[in-house]
Amino acid sequence: MKYTDLYINGHWQAGSNDERFDVINPADESVLASVASGTVEDAIACIDAADAAFADWAGRTPRERSEILRRAFELMTARRDEFARLITKENGKARADAVGEATYAAEFFRWFAEEAVRADGMITRAPSSGARILVHHKPAGIAVLVTPWNYPAAMGTRKIAPALAAGCPVIVKPASETPLTMLALMPLLEEAGVPPGVVNVLPSRSSGAVVDAMLHDRRVRVVSFTGSTGVGRKLLHSAADQVLKPAMELGGNAPFIVFDDADIDLAVEGAMLAKMRNLGEACTAANRIYVHEKIAGIFTEKFSSAMKQLKVGNGLDDGIDVGPLVNADTRNKVVNLVNDAIARGAKLHLGGKVPSGKGYFYPPTVLTDVSDDALCLHDEIFGPVAALQTFSDGDDIVARANDTEYGLVAYVFTENMKRGLQVCEKLEFGMVGLNRGLVSDPAAPFGGVKQSGLGREGGHEGMLEFMETQYISATW
Ligand code: NAP
Repeated sequence: MKYTDLYINGHWQAGSNDERFDVINPADESVLASVASGTVEDAIACIDAADAAFADWAGRTPRERSEILRRAFELMTARRDEFARLITKENGKARADAVGEATYAAEFFRWFAEEAVRADGMITRAPSSGARILVHHKPAGIAVLVTPWNYPAAMGTRKIAPALAAGCPVIVKPASETPLTMLALMPLLEEAGVPPGVVNVLPSRSSGAVVDAMLHDRRVRVVSFTGSTGVGRKLLHSAADQVLKPAMELGGNAPFIVFDDADIDLAVEGAMLAKMRNLGEACTAANRIYVHEKIAGIFTEKFSSAMKQLKVGNGLDDGIDVGPLVNADTRNKVVNLVNDAIARGAKLHLGGKVPSGKGYFYPPTVLTDVSDDALCLHDEIFGPVAALQTFSDGDDIVARANDTEYGLVAYVFTENMKRGLQVCEKLEFGMVGLNRGLVSDPAAPFGGVKQSGLGREGGHEGMLEFMETQYISATW
């Protein structure tokens, strides 16, 4: 591997204490690379670099920033397959998922190239005093971006692109399981024209210490985090000390509701996408599948048959649909959740058996008759396991769907649009897929309510997360 050091101020360098850590290929458990582990001292060097780059970057015209982002989109699109291979190597996901991610990741550069030139303001007159009210948006300042392993490219570009569009320099702390993709993106950004210091990457095995040090540096103004709700809560506590602007994309527990008037084939297709995209390692994954009792038999049969056709193996090989889970802990969690559901009365329709040999593989698995107290209905499964329950006309299915501390995404399938929209409005989730198993789109505001997060990424809202509104009261 070529890029395994810290990337600070446009230079590659070892960590200040020379420590490194291994990145493992989850398909065969081999060591892919040894990566430099950043220290608190390195974190401060990143902020020094960002601080030195800030005025020039913020002072560039929106068009200039836009064109650099546009070039990043073009370069990443041209090298999509190269990035997809690297994503598969360090994360495990199958090629189609990795190509999908690389495409999605590049799209954030295109979308925010277009948004960079549309930071609207307003001028109006105060109704009583007659003073002029001028409202405009300024870059908020240095942003610390902390990203997870499940989308090593896209969760980074979903933050880097809007920050750069807004005029903010950034420090990216990628997940230790998957730092290679983010490091490999840096030469591409250089080629696109991003100046030194505007994007810095700090892999670190001491994530708590380095992120905490950055959040307590007075020059930092934004923290944007994607990951688990537990870590998000800690970062919100740290962010409170300096009253930083937080953006939090946290965990989910998505309900997937299929009404008796749904188009069953469309619902099965949607469930396959919502459950199996990224082999279930997604915050948007359907975690609780509720099917009306009148159609439960036929839905289960068709869905299980589609799940059975998926081929498990090394994600780099041809014809593979489901790669390995990212590491042993993630697989152990899935094994425990399935065993717990079965112990509480669930029926195993498909899968459920860990294959022998190297790699953290787990087969597509279907559970039915899952009891309400099964842990998999309350915790993110984060694996290729579908937990099915039924409901009847007498049940308040919206209340069941809302009965969680999470509120990221829900899915609803019905041919009755009036009912569909009424249900969508009652669901306490930041996003709803209505007759669709996929909601992620760079042009849409992605994000959750309740303990799934704060703020939005993508859409028009994404860039505002990196800007401050200033109001000038003027007389002339
Ligand atoms: P995680 O354990 O919370 O880690 C996410 C990032 O935070 C990693 O870079 C990690 O670094 C870092 N980190 C861990 N502890 C930290 C601390 N004390 N202080 C500062 N940083 C810390 O999450 P994950 O397991 O990588 O990702 C899975 C989770 O992400 C799931 O809950 C999923 O739902 C959520 N997710 C949400 C969205 C969304 O948009 N809402 C999207 C994708 C994923 P190390 O790797 O070095 O520990």
